[in-house]
Amino acid sequence: MGRRSVVVVGGGVAGLAAAYELSGGSAGPDEATPRVELIESSARLGGALATTELAGRVVDVGPDGVLARRPEAVGLVEELGLGDRLEPVAASGAWIWLRGAAREMPSGLALGVPTDAGALRGWPGLSRRARAALARDRHWPARLAVGEDATVGAIVRAKLGDEVAHGLVEPLIGGIQAGRIDDLSARSVFPALLEAARRGGSLTVALAAGGPTSPGPAHATGPSGPAFVTLRSGLGSLPEALAAELSARGVVLRRATAVTALRRTPAGPYPWEVDTATTTTPADAVVLATPAAVTAALVGRHDGALGALGAVRSAGVAVVTLSLEPTTTTLPATGTGLLVPLATGWPGPETMLVTALTFLDRKWPHLRRDDDVLVRAHVGRSDDLRWGDLDDATLVARVHDEARHLLGRAGPIRDAHVARWPSALAQYELGHAPLVEAARAGARRLGLALAGSAYDGVGVPATVGSGRRAAREVRERLAP
Ligand SMILES: Cc1cc2nc3c(=O)[nH]c(=O)nc-3n(C[C@H](O)[C@H](O)[C@H](O)COP(=O)(O)OP(=O)(O)OC[C@H]3O[C@@H](n4cnc5c(N)ncnc54)[C@H](O)[C@@H]3O)c2cc1C
Repeated sequence: MGRRSVVVVGGGVAGLAAAYELSGGSAGPDEATPRVELIESSARLGGALATTELAGRVVDVGPDGVLARRPEAVGLVEELGLGDRLEPVAASGAWIWLRGAAREMPSGLALGVPTDAGALRGWPGLSRRARAALARDRHWPARLAVGEDATVGAIVRAKLGDEVAHGLVEPLIGGIQAGRIDDLSARSVFPALLEAARRGGSLTVALAAGGPTSPGPAHATGPSGPAFVTLRSGLGSLPEALAAELSARGVVLRRATAVTALRRTPAGPYPWEVDTATTTTPADAVVLATPAAVTAALVGRHDGALGALGAVRSAGVAVVTLSLEPTTTTLPATGTGLLVPLATGWPGPETMLVTALTFLDRKWPHLRRDDDVLVRAHVGRSDDLRWGDLDDATLVARVHDEARHLLGRAGPIRDAHVARWPSALAQYELGHAPLVEAARAGARRLGLALAGSAYDGVGVPATVGSGRRAAREVRERLAP
């Protein structure tokens, strides 16, 4: 048998990680390594991992840090020989805008869900009524019948009340996923919450018994190391490093080329043909590392469960990075940022667009300069695309006004950058897990594999893991 051929569709971090693993992973290529071709529609590899130059330094405009306790992303960075570029987060704790002011987040939250009602006693971010609802959960918990799945919102609202749901859980979980807790599946985005709800009784007690929670404002690094890390060259430099390694291994990298169709050719020497506008590549197997809707459009006609992936919505967001005059900008004394709950009013038009501010140069020491403060604003959710109607200059001005309201003082802008991610974050809504299981089974039957942030978690580590697992699955299937 000649050399096997595998095509990877999509050159985000999932596709790049898949190509790395297909070409031998940490051990490098050997005689069993297939020919690997990666096809990416945009001119740039990396997908959501991207940097820009702003006020004299390289700044991430997609993800800016990864969870350090998950091994996948850090492991890949180390395998590529970039371990010395890793930088731990230099601040901890966060603030949240509640009841008209910035409040320091209390300790003992699990993705925003309180596990220690005592830590919230007297906390001014919640009304007396909401704190009473927390106390009630401990002593007279509400009954809730939970089956295979429920939305995060349904569980938290029933057990702890609407104010905790809106003020704490929605900004945390809704913020990470850019979605709404009333749509998001607890089974997929917060399995420990589903488990705790299923156990019955007090949700706060069951969650506290279930595992680690946020350590609270005092802890930047625990005994096991920092919570987050980044790369001094920007996380967005990881795709370039991967691309260089892949090229050295002989992987064919095609940029600015969209895959237009996958055709089955079971009678031919290869079971698949992968089409672009100008070429056809025969393949023994294909890793689809494209957004779920693209994957459904490419292969849905071959299998109904793959077609059903078209139902996975994705949220669009914008990231606005501001370099601000330092002497006239005031940040809270501590913390990595400030969360803003949904539909928060302010003196300007409508409700605020900003969902969170990140104090970028406080988090990452390599970004610090004496002559500015770097603040990054996150804008948009699955049901809030207002930013899409504003041009860059208007969006920057609006975000700056909101930042001034939130921080008290946010000096003149020295430089600004807008990154738009129109369909960035897959929404893990109710029923997501069975949808993915069925799609994976369908893919396996056809000799395809699925990778990316629509399946195994939205963070970079989960996405890297997803790409490498899909590649291993393919290599096992192709093994003689
Ligand atoms: C603003 C923002 C901030 C984030 N912050 C964090 C963070 O701090 N920490 C963290 O861990 N995660 C974060 N994430 C999540 C993380 O960045 C993503 O989940 C991850 O990068 C997704 O990688 P992916 O390869 O699955 O998808 P993508 O990056 O979307 O890659 C998919 C690729 O497929 C290509 N493609 C599409 N159609 C075709 C086609 N027909 N043919 C060929 N190619 C095609 C696309 O151009 C794209 O490059 C953030 C995401 C965003 C958007």
